[in-house]
Amino acid sequence: MYDVAVVGAGPAGRTLAGACALRGLRTALLDPDPRRPWRLTYGAWCDELPADLPEAAVAARARGRAVALTTRELGWEYAVLDVAGLRAHLDAGLSGVTVVAGRVVGRDGGGVVLADGTTVAALVVVDAGGHRQPLRAPGVGGGSAAARPAAEQTAYGVVVDEQVAAAVVTPGTALFMDWRPPPGRAAGDAAAAGWPTFLYAVPVGGGRVLLEETSLARRPGLPMRALRDRLLARLARYAITPSPDAEVERVHFPVDTARHHTPGVVGFGAAAPLTHPATGFSVAAALRLAPTVADALTAHLPRDPRGALSAARAVVWSPAARAVHLLRRRGLEALLRMPPEEVPAFFEVFFELPEPHRWAYLTGRDDLAATVAAMNALFGRAGWRLRRRLVGPALRPALRENAAVPGP
Ligand SMILES: Cc1cc2nc3c(=O)[nH]c(=O)nc-3n(C[C@H](O)[C@H](O)[C@H](O)COP(=O)(O)OP(=O)(O)OC[C@H]3O[C@@H](n4cnc5c(N)ncnc54)[C@H](O)[C@@H]3O)c2cc1C
Repeated sequence: MYDVAVVGAGPAGRTLAGACALRGLRTALLDPDPRRPWRLTYGAWCDELPADLPEAAVAARARGRAVALTTRELGWEYAVLDVAGLRAHLDAGLSGVTVVAGRVVGRDGGGVVLADGTTVAALVVVDAGGHRQPLRAPGVGGGSAAARPAAEQTAYGVVVDEQVAAAVVTPGTALFMDWRPPPGRAAGDAAAAGWPTFLYAVPVGGGRVLLEETSLARRPGLPMRALRDRLLARLARYAITPSPDAEVERVHFPVDTARHHTPGVVGFGAAAPLTHPATGFSVAAALRLAPTVADALTAHLPRDPRGALSAARAVVWSPAARAVHLLRRRGLEALLRMPPEEVPAFFEVFFELPEPHRWAYLTGRDDLAATVAAMNALFGRAGWRLRRRLVGPALRPALRENAAVPGP
């Protein structure tokens, strides 16, 4: 019998399992392939990362910049994590954890069941299995969301040398978003292409830069092929031709995963979801929140598993966090319905906001007052047309599906 069974050994599950074991809880961590190396590029705002994260877990830091209609310094730094370094750091914390290789297929009364039929008994079960939420009970939560495609962030990127990327991004800078059309293209062209995408350009360490054509959110996601074509066309206009063996990154994940409501389970990481609908980020939030969730579990275990479950849920989904999540989701729906040609102007208004407002909206997952203040400030600066775009979707049901994008 374990105190806690954490399902999923991604960044969220590993962090939480380590934090639980550190507090003396008997902890199991289950994953079909717990030794599989991570291959994604994880980025985060530097100040969002936990203070005790070792420098070896960070591959690069750079000044954050965004370009909508004009160029803005964000006023804070962006970090790209060193995936191997982060993994080594989290693995060092797993010495007191029993790591079990196996796919969890369901719950039984007192724990989880693996695909081979074995069971692992635990007082509390955490679903840290990523956006697919492997322990989500069918039909629990999601409501009408189940009937429509997911809103997805999709992106296609290539890694090039810093000198090659210099035509697009100054060394030492992380371009969080660049909505400008490439040289030689008119501003309206992106709209003519049917769906707005932007360039994300960040240093990934070792003098290399990731250049990525990104569709922030679309229901369903913009297809990879369209993103690839747009990236190559964009780079060609800067005279950049990635080599055929350049490292490629393909991003594809939902940003509107329903909250994990399944009885008897706490969702954590992308399974919670901790994912910010406007950025897709969740890793930094999981790294920061794990110790507090572990504290909540420790306060009740082993004598009061129900109390432990509710205390952990209350940390992940405090009333303020639930309200912020709802507001962010309304923001996502407004973005999904916004006419393509108006999207850069919307971000111009957002990036014009004073720094505390931008920071609060991008990171304050349980700071309701600051999120509301940021949204009010944005509304106050918006013209009447944009105000209608922001308010309208809040009063309507969620968009069923975005229209198909015309082919090239
Ligand atoms: C290319 C790419 C780039 C991204 N970049 C960023 C970024 O820069 N910053 C950021 O914050 N986010 C980024 N994301 C989003 C990112 O996926 C998530 O934020 C992050 O991986 C979530 O971590 P997690 O531990 O919650 O889930 P995951 O990393 O998805 O880990 C889930 C784990 O659960 C395991 N699992 C699944 N099903 C079961 C089961 N039935 N039984 C047992 N185990 C199971 C999986 O094997 C996996 O190991 C990116 C995503 C992609 C695809």
